[in-house]
Amino acid sequence: MFKHMNIAIIGAGLSGLACADRLQMQGHRVQLFDKARGAGGRMSTRRISTEWGEVSFDHGAQYFTVRDANFKTVVDQWQSSGAAAPWPVVGPDAWVGTPSMSAPIKWMATRHDVTWSIRVEAIQRQDNGWVLRGEGAPHTCFDAVVIAVPAEQAAALLTPIQNDFATLAKATVSSPCWTLMLSFASPLQTRTITLRDDAIIGWAACNSDKPARTGPQSWVIQASAAWSEKHLEDSPDAVQAMLMQRFAECLAVELPVPLIAATHRWRYALSGNAGCSALYSPGSQLGVCGDWFLGPRVECAWLSGQALGMMIGASAGKHL
Ligand SMILES: Cc1cc2nc3c(=O)[nH]c(=O)nc-3n(C[C@H](O)[C@H](O)[C@H](O)COP(=O)(O)OP(=O)(O)OC[C@H]3O[C@@H](n4cnc5c(N)ncnc54)[C@H](O)[C@@H]3O)c2cc1C
Repeated sequence: MFKHMNIAIIGAGLSGLACADRLQMQGHRVQLFDKARGAGGRMSTRRISTEWGEVSFDHGAQYFTVRDANFKTVVDQWQSSGAAAPWPVVGPDAWVGTPSMSAPIKWMATRHDVTWSIRVEAIQRQDNGWVLRGEGAPHTCFDAVVIAVPAEQAAALLTPIQNDFATLAKATVSSPCWTLMLSFASPLQTRTITLRDDAIIGWAACNSDKPARTGPQSWVIQASAAWSEKHLEDSPDAVQAMLMQRFAECLAVELPVPLIAATHRWRYALSGNAGCSALYSPGSQLGVCGDWFLGPRVECAWLSGQALGMMIGASAGKHL
């Protein structure tokens, strides 16, 4: 026998959804709330219309690797549903979402009760459970709450309610990433598909080379963590100019005028590593998960969410 709970999850990125999968399997009622307008989190895809067709850019995670056997089972489900495929040009165990990096998140989100465009500003403990505060947040009282957001954002929510968890979140620092998205009417004259480990450009890839992409040629260029940190408060125009110049130098091509040139600043891109898989307080029924527990990788986010789901399940079993 098991105590079934009403659980709110703040953050419907991969870790929040992986936790929701596990909790739903255990029979709990789960509702997710995310501040974004749609699915993706840091596995987002930006789509822009042009006269040459729609262009898509995976401007967060570029690809992911699969080492854990349970994660492999899930990735196989994504693949058989058309939501992921190998991208062998990067390595034998590299995968991407199809037709965009956000596809696996969309696939998972359709299996849950997710409300988008709700930014949770605070969580308050009341006599009979937890209440979320923020514009549009429900007035429901939840038995348990899960926070599945980057460490810095988790720290802000945790500080008033669970100081020990907040301390760990504050100590786990993410690095930023300036990202440049370029699209060209005609393919660039280069055989290069990926670039990595330049002092300025940490990674660049021909996004339209990934499986199942259509439309004009697109490139995603991500500045190194050190360069992004140094230029964090620069204007998007200045960043665009510097990254375009360096990209052209690295490819040794003269860039034509792009159809699209856009930047995105990820303030919290690649997480630190807290050294445990997730946190749960059975007393207050408050849990925290996210990539930042295990490292800055898609697989780590999934593992952390699942680990928290199992912790909550084990505790709900004991509390009967
Ligand atoms: C530029 C970049 C490049 C990367 N490259 C790779 C790569 O090549 N390979 C790889 O494996 N990983 C890569 N990653 C890391 C990978 O994307 C992450 O590890 C993973 O997506 C994290 O998932 P998550 O669920 O922990 O967090 P997120 O995906 O960040 O999900 C958190 C969610 O919480 C929501 N949220 C935050 N605050 C609130 C709030 N107050 N109220 C409501 N909702 C809120 C956000 O909108 C978001 O949807 C990259 C990340 C970035 C940004």
